[in-house]
Amino acid sequence: MEFDVPSEHRMIRDSVREFCENEIEPIAQEIEEEHRFPAAVFDELGELDVMGVPISEEWGGLGGDTLMYALVAEELGRVSGSIGLSYVAHTSLGAKPIELFGTDAQKERWLTPLAAGEQLGGWALTEPGSGSDASDMDTTAERDGDEYVLNGTKQFITNASVAGSVLVKAVTDPETGYDGISTFIVAPEDDGWEVTTEWDKMGLNASPTCELLFDDCRIPADRLLGEEGDGWAQTLKTLNGGRISIAALSTGLAQGAFEAAKSYATEREQFDRPISKFDAVRDKIVEMDRKIERARLLTHKAATMYDQGEDVTRMSSLAKLDASEICREVAEDAVQVLGGYGYTTDFAPQRFYRDAKLMEIGEGTSEIQRMVLGRELGL
Ligand SMILES: Cc1cc2nc3c(=O)[nH]c(=O)nc-3n(C[C@H](O)[C@H](O)[C@H](O)COP(=O)(O)OP(=O)(O)OC[C@H]3O[C@@H](n4cnc5c(N)ncnc54)[C@H](O)[C@@H]3O)c2cc1C
Repeated sequence: MEFDVPSEHRMIRDSVREFCENEIEPIAQEIEEEHRFPAAVFDELGELDVMGVPISEEWGGLGGDTLMYALVAEELGRVSGSIGLSYVAHTSLGAKPIELFGTDAQKERWLTPLAAGEQLGGWALTEPGSGSDASDMDTTAERDGDEYVLNGTKQFITNASVAGSVLVKAVTDPETGYDGISTFIVAPEDDGWEVTTEWDKMGLNASPTCELLFDDCRIPADRLLGEEGDGWAQTLKTLNGGRISIAALSTGLAQGAFEAAKSYATEREQFDRPISKFDAVRDKIVEMDRKIERARLLTHKAATMYDQGEDVTRMSSLAKLDASEICREVAEDAVQVLGGYGYTTDFAPQRFYRDAKLMEIGEGTSEIQRMVLGRELGL
């Protein structure tokens, strides 16, 4: 059993870490306060060749594996939850399904610009009336000659306002339940849909979260991804990968909060000594380290199993549940370690704390992860 990541992976991780520290960390709080999507950062990530890490080189990706992708997601999370969230939504939700389920023509047209970082991807499953019970959707796609006509509303869609393509789930056959859902590639130039809301959120405000309205949106029939009725099976597979993304991102957020707390605790003095010398503060930092190590191990195990083609339903859910919960706990303790300064926007822990909360909600809430895990245990 190998616990260290391979040297090629370490090289990518180190170059992304350097980029993050030099280019992202200095603007992380500013873009959050300005609610500004940092398009230039994504252009530079494209130049670094990491916008398509788990996409094969044939389609312009880096040809890496899920473990390598998880390392990149963790590094981004360590400095900016917003950039990390837009990155993982682009990669595992917007791009990877086209590689897994698309035709060669679709990959050429839609995947290549995503993998090269020329465009961002998005993925629209959630609706105002269906979140955890995602298959109970109202959006429809009706075949009309050589077109499909989409109608409905999608909610909380990451990147939709800045994306070059969005994968939209819609009902093509209302009589057949799970087997009546299909996936369509929709582009900004298609008539009949618009972003109706960009949400203000408690965190992650440099990552756009959008409501989309489809009103007789006509798209060519060749935008169907896979076959009619494949949409739900594709969703389950996509979410298995997506949960590894959120686990990696959560581990990164926790790592960022931990580092801020540790460095502050060794410098800040009260009662004539660094506060790290007080048992209560030291124990908090030791607990942070313990929790992060555990979350990272689970995440790397899930990623490795995914790469080996194993069923990761249980492991990706375990990793997502554990990493998202420890991420919120670690960030909360980091705010506490910084005392009053931790409550100010001059220091990063408050941002990690606000960003961390989403990790327990997106791509299946903690309650839903426990449901999945209970089912896996036969309960
Ligand atoms: C910032 C952000 C980005 C997002 N990005 C995307 C995206 O790119 N694409 C996309 O499709 N969606 C996205 N989402 C949506 C996200 O996946 C959903 O918000 C999430 O799945 C929960 O759905 P909901 O908000 O409708 O909550 P609900 O499903 O209404 O849940 C409300 C509460 O009830 C609980 N609950 C529901 N059912 C059960 C049950 N059976 N047992 C126990 N408890 C239950 C939930 O755990 C939760 O606590 C995003 C959301 C946010 C906030």
